Amino acid sequence: MAYRPFDLTGKVALVTGGNRGIGFGIAQAVAEAGADVAIWGTNAAKNAEAKAELAKTGRKVVALQCDVGDEAAVDAAFARTLEALGRMDGCFANAGIGGGGAKSFLEMSSELWHRVLRVNLDGAFYTFRAAARHMVERGGGGVLVGTASLAAVEGSPRSEHYAATKGGLISMVRSLAVEFARHNVRAHAILPGWIETDMTHRLTTNETFHSKVMPRIPMRRWGKGDDFGGIAVYLMSSAARYHTGDTFVIDGGYSLF
Ligand code: NDP
Repeated sequence: MAYRPFDLTGKVALVTGGNRGIGFGIAQAVAEAGADVAIWGTNAAKNAEAKAELAKTGRKVVALQCDVGDEAAVDAAFARTLEALGRMDGCFANAGIGGGGAKSFLEMSSELWHRVLRVNLDGAFYTFRAAARHMVERGGGGVLVGTASLAAVEGSPRSEHYAATKGGLISMVRSLAVEFARHNVRAHAILPGWIETDMTHRLTTNETFHSKVMPRIPMRRWGKGDDFGGIAVYLMSSAARYHTGDTFVIDGGYSLF
């Protein structure tokens, strides 16, 4: 028999922050591999645009307005997602905001600190909890994947709040991997390098930044959202069934050089 573990037909994925950037790359790839997909974001226009694009795959697509930092909103959106798509096999807690705004850690306000933690870490907690409850109750397993960052493991001056959320996310998924292995629920973190998205637009289009960073990326280009499709399909697939608790650095070699 042919080896076709990457066919995701019959599976369902949720991608928070799936209306653009890395999340859209994930959503598009898993849909193209056969999964029905839900994307969540706060911007209704961006959601509609992404939904129309994803629908071209022929899969069922649901786009919901949901602020992942709002616990009740996450639980409500999760219920609506299940109602529309029936099950959840892959949950990608990808929604995130950058940490811009602090000139120095010395002047970092607690308001800014909590604003970033609310979306990047609380949001992943609410999302994973809803998905894990469903996966355990339904049986049959699944995968929880957090989009962390190299900021979790490298020094990130003036971004201690952002770095802390991403380090926290890695610690969270490793714990989830152990707690839920008996339910065949796996958990992983993806650590992107420098990816050209709305989040990094100000940096990737800045001459000084470009000239300093690009020589340190062996692949000699910024990453793109669709560079994350392959890992997403793999992690949702049966090929990954014995693989849990891992971190995947996808950075064109930046962290090696
Ligand atoms: P984008 O800014 O392109 O996308 C961010 C996504 O998150 C959007 O879909 C946005 O939708 C959504 N989002 C933001 N806040 C919320 C919220 N409160 N509730 C629900 N959705 C929200 O960024 P990227 O694609 O670059 O980022 C995706 C993830 O990758 C983030 O977690 C980021 O930290 C991480 N990352 C990115 C890197 C890069 O170089 N780009 C490097 C390392 C990590 P909406 O506006 O509709 O709310």
